[in-house]
Amino acid sequence: MTGLPEHSAFRGLGLAEPLLDAVADRGYSEPTAIQVDAIPVALDGADIFGCAQTGTGKTAAFVLPMLQRLAESPEHHGTIRGLILTPTRELADQVERAVAHYGARLSLESMVVYGGVPIGAQIKDLKFGCDVLVATPGRLLDHLERRTVSLADVEVLVLDEADRMLDMGFIDDVRKIVRQTPSDRQTLLFSATMPDAILGLAHEMMRDPVSVQVGFQTAAAGITEVLHPVDYASKQALVYHLLDSWGTGPALVFTRMKSTAAYLCEFLKKKGVSVDDLHGDKGQADRTRSLTRFREGKTRVLVATNVAARGLDIVGITHVVNFDVPDDPKDYVHRVGRTARGDQTGDAVTLMSPHEVMMVREIEKLMNTPIPRAVVEGFEPAFSPEIGIRAEIPADVTPRSRLARGRRRRR
Ligand code: AMP
Repeated sequence: MTGLPEHSAFRGLGLAEPLLDAVADRGYSEPTAIQVDAIPVALDGADIFGCAQTGTGKTAAFVLPMLQRLAESPEHHGTIRGLILTPTRELADQVERAVAHYGARLSLESMVVYGGVPIGAQIKDLKFGCDVLVATPGRLLDHLERRTVSLADVEVLVLDEADRMLDMGFIDDVRKIVRQTPSDRQTLLFSATMPDAILGLAHEMMRDPVSVQVGFQTAAAGITEVLHPVDYASKQALVYHLLDSWGTGPALVFTRMKSTAAYLCEFLKKKGVSVDDLHGDKGQADRTRSLTRFREGKTRVLVATNVAARGLDIVGITHVVNFDVPDDPKDYVHRVGRTARGDQTGDAVTLMSPHEVMMVREIEKLMNTPIPRAVVEGFEPAFSPEIGIRAEIPADVTPRSRLARGRRRRR
C-alpha cells in the first residue's frame, strides 16, 4: 500500500506500485491535469504531442510512464533506452533529478550531459552505462560524433520545451540526434507554444500522436499578476522597496541583459539584500552554485536573465519580478511561471517604463487578458500609465516644434 490517499486519482492511471510510492514521497496526493491526460496514453505506448507550459506537472507526466516501460525489461538495464532532450543545462539537471527520484525504487540509473563542463568526466561516467540519459542537444551531438554514446536502443524519446529548443537554434541538432534513434521508438514532445516549425517537427517525428493540451498560453492559476508603471531610472530603487516590503520570501528577478543583472545584483547587495546573479557571462560552475544556493534558501533573491526563465522548478518562490518587460511575449509566461508551482500561490510583478508599453500590449494580446496596473506610492511615473505617453511634455509644444528641436539636436 502506498502513502497516497486511498481515493487518489493517481491510483487509476495504471502506474506500478513503486512509482506510486515515489509520487507519495514527493508529497503529491492528486495528479495534475496533464498527468491525468498524458500518463495513461504514454503507458499505452502512443506518441504524445503535449502543449503544456512549465508549472503544470509535465515532467512527471513523461518521466513516470517512461520509467515504467523501461522497468518492464530489466534484462536491458544499463543501456540507454530513455532519452530526454532539454534546451538548457539547468532544466537538464532538474529533469534528471526527477528521473533519479522516481527511478530509484526501480533500480533504473540516469545521467545528465550538457556543455560548459569538461567532457572527459562524462565520457568516463557514460562507460558505466545508464537507462535514462538527459541531455542538451549540442553536447549530446558531440558525444555521438566521438562515439562515446549510442542511441541505438532508445525506446522512449522525450523532447521537452521543444519551442525553446527551436528558439535557441537547436532544431537541426535535434533532427540529427533523432535520426540516430530507432524509428519504432515512442516519442513524447512537449512545448509551451505551437509555432508552425514545431508542428512540422511533430509531423516528421511522430506517428499518430495523441494531442494533450493544458493551460495553453495563460499563466498558471495561483499567480497574481500586477504591472507597476515606473520611470526607468527609478526601477532599481523600486525593486529594493518591493523586496523590503515583502519580508523574507524567496524572489526571482528577471532582467533582459546580463550587464543589468550583474549591476542590479551589486546594487541590492550594497543595500544589504541576500542576493546572487545568474546569467550567461558566468561560468557553468558559478551558475550551478548560484542556483543551488537559491534553491537551498541560502540566498533570498536571484537576479537572472532568461537562462532561468524556462522550466526551472524551485519550490516556494513567492515573487517573480520582471525588472524589464520581456521582448518576446512568450517569455513573460515562462518567467511568471517560476512562481506558484504546482498548487502553490505567488505574485508576478512587472515594472513597466514608457518604452515598454507596447511590449506589455503584446503580452496582453497573447494572454488575451489585461494585467492590472498599480502605481506604487513614492514611485509615481512621469508618464501616463494608461497610454504610456510622457505626461511632462508641455502642452504648448506642437508636433512641428518637437520635430524642429529634434533636427537641431541632430546637427
Ligand atoms: P513541472 O511542470 O513538471 O515543472 O512541475 C511543476 C511543479 O509541480 C513542480 O514543483 C512539481 O514538483 C509539482 N508537481 C508535479 N506534479 C504534482 C502533483 N501531482 N501534485 C502537486 N504538485 C505537483
